Amino acid sequence: MRQTLRRTTLGHFIGGRLVDRDGADGTPVYNPATGEITKHVAMGTAADVDTAVRAADDAFATWSATPAPRRAAVLFRFRELVLEHAGRLAGIITSEHGKTLPDAAGELQRGLEVVEFACGIPHLLKGEFSENVGRGADGYSLRQPLGICAGISPFNFPAMVPMWMFPVALACGNTFIMKPSEKDPSLALELARLLTQAGLPDGVFNVVNGAKPTVDALLADHRVAAISFVGSTSVARHVYERGTANGKRVQALGGAKNHLVVMPDADLDQTADALMGAAFGSAGERCMAISIAVPVGDGVADALLPRLRERIATLRVGAGDESGVEMGPLVTGEHRDRVRGYVDLAEREGAQIIVDGRADGSRNERGFFFGATLLDRVTPEMRVYKEEIVGPVLGIVRAADFESALNIVNGHECGNGAAIFTRDGDAARTFVQGVQAGMVGVNVPIPVPMAFHSFGGWKASLFGDHHVHGPEGVRFYTHLKTVTSRWPTGARARAQYVMPTMR
Ligand code: NAD
Repeated sequence: MRQTLRRTTLGHFIGGRLVDRDGADGTPVYNPATGEITKHVAMGTAADVDTAVRAADDAFATWSATPAPRRAAVLFRFRELVLEHAGRLAGIITSEHGKTLPDAAGELQRGLEVVEFACGIPHLLKGEFSENVGRGADGYSLRQPLGICAGISPFNFPAMVPMWMFPVALACGNTFIMKPSEKDPSLALELARLLTQAGLPDGVFNVVNGAKPTVDALLADHRVAAISFVGSTSVARHVYERGTANGKRVQALGGAKNHLVVMPDADLDQTADALMGAAFGSAGERCMAISIAVPVGDGVADALLPRLRERIATLRVGAGDESGVEMGPLVTGEHRDRVRGYVDLAEREGAQIIVDGRADGSRNERGFFFGATLLDRVTPEMRVYKEEIVGPVLGIVRAADFESALNIVNGHECGNGAAIFTRDGDAARTFVQGVQAGMVGVNVPIPVPMAFHSFGGWKASLFGDHHVHGPEGVRFYTHLKTVTSRWPTGARARAQYVMPTMR
């Protein structure tokens, strides 16, 4: 007899409880290491968004009036709970994203650092006070929450990117609606449960799963005051344009093509090790991955290539939960095929394929594996140079000298991260000053800022004025209010018809 299996479909988290959609239709979620569909996820409708917005709206008055130290106390408890559940949460990330368990634990840790930053909110919200700005008058400024904020996150960091956003937004007194990536949606629901367990009042943090229609419903809702988006450039542009046209404050972080310039005096073994981690860690799916190396001089390129080839030969590719594995699969079969398409294109465009990861895909027929790929003689005119591949493909663009290397980096439309490897302080300083990127590394391949600084790119890597977390995050999630007050005694001032000067 044929058995009908009930499908597991993840729902939403609204008003402090799970909105069950089990058994309903939805988008498949895979285990990338096996290629199996492990569950489905509901696609939130405009009605689901409306329910979440109403819950967030109802919760706002009380939460925003809760003293900042009490809001911080909830985040302190949340931090402890995330640490307690860290192993399980990393396992969930690996099972849906594919990255290795230590890498998943690392992203959780980077997210927790933002929670730790947000725990300092009583200090961060302290305003400024000026006594006696005029006769008998004082001036002071304060920061107040915006209202309902929404976060839309990409597949590549299901823990860290949402945690760039909501800890700071909540600490500032806002309520929040999270729309995680439909490719790895479980973690946001887990974080919502832990926030509730930590004492967060119902409705302050909500999760609506879904894709474009869900995002568009959030963008259209006039009750949503601000949107934080992280994802590809084309969607970032859409979210920024639609969101700001609807009167919202928007920060939309887009795609990246991060370059690493290798100067002739760099330690090439150290540089090759750095490039391996930066290009192939997390299967090259990080927004701060190095996808282009720019050796200065043919001699540097010729000495770097064998070092990379040798290291790629021993790179351990496999399921993210196997011990010793250094690179897991890509997130979906569709994405693996897209990456393969780019390597085919590189060949047609005339790049030299030094190591071909296409063959490695057959190592495991079922999972979405793709081997580390190294391309030489990539040029800025090629599509494989211009477009973001989001996979384990490292291109070498050869530069004749430092100035041309810097021009190559600055000529790309993206400006997320950029790095230089050198022993020459003068070259490093000139690079830091002249490079058009939001995050710069000197002998550091992936210069992801710590939580108490802010994260964000330039050019097509960020639409909007504010970077995320750190001081910029507090500015983004608050209105600035400046007050001038006077307590007049004695004779009443007469009406004044000239511009008040306070003098
Ligand atoms: P994506 O743009 O496809 O999706 C991001 C989010 O937008 C998801 O939640 C998705 O459901 C939603 N979405 C997708 N298409 C949409 C549409 N047409 N309209 C409205 N919403 C839509 O990105 P992805 O593939 O999940 O993530 C990888 C991308 O994210 C890469 O480009 C990577 O560089 C970028 N990224 C950037 C940063 C950064 O800090 N700049 C950080 C992480 C990832």
